[in-house]
Amino acid sequence: MLIRELGLPVEKIDACKVGCMLFWKDDKHLEFCKFCGHARYKHVKGQKPRRKRSAYATLQYLSITPRLQRLYASNTTTEHMSWHVTHKTENGVMRYPSDAEAWKYFDETHPDFATEPCNVRLSLCADGFAPHRQYDKSYSC
Ligand SMILES: [Zn+2]
Repeated sequence: MLIRELGLPVEKIDACKVGCMLFWKDDKHLEFCKFCGHARYKHVKGQKPRRKRSAYATLQYLSITPRLQRLYASNTTTEHMSWHVTHKTENGVMRYPSDAEAWKYFDETHPDFATEPCNVRLSLCADGFAPHRQYDKSYSC
């Protein structure tokens, strides 16, 4: 409901209940998880076969392109998107991502990209997920 009110396109992709895979692309017609064998859809007793079925888990995917286009749609947010070019870095203080060594290294290795202030850098940050189906809580990334 909240996502719909943003006015951005949302793609819903069924997922395995356990989290092994997405029913997407070549796998979008599968009825069972190809890793654990769990059923894709909830079984409703007495349901007619042609009725829309409900998946155990669904991923809501928000494509990045319309989100970035929206950020550049107003003068206020456009200014924020290129703020990293105009702000002053305080020596020895890392307050913003553009103050970090990784950002500076990226700019040095990709100067053509770095000179365009409207270019967007994307990074991935996660806190507490278990790769390779490790359910042991003592290991987390
Ligand atoms: Zn599975």
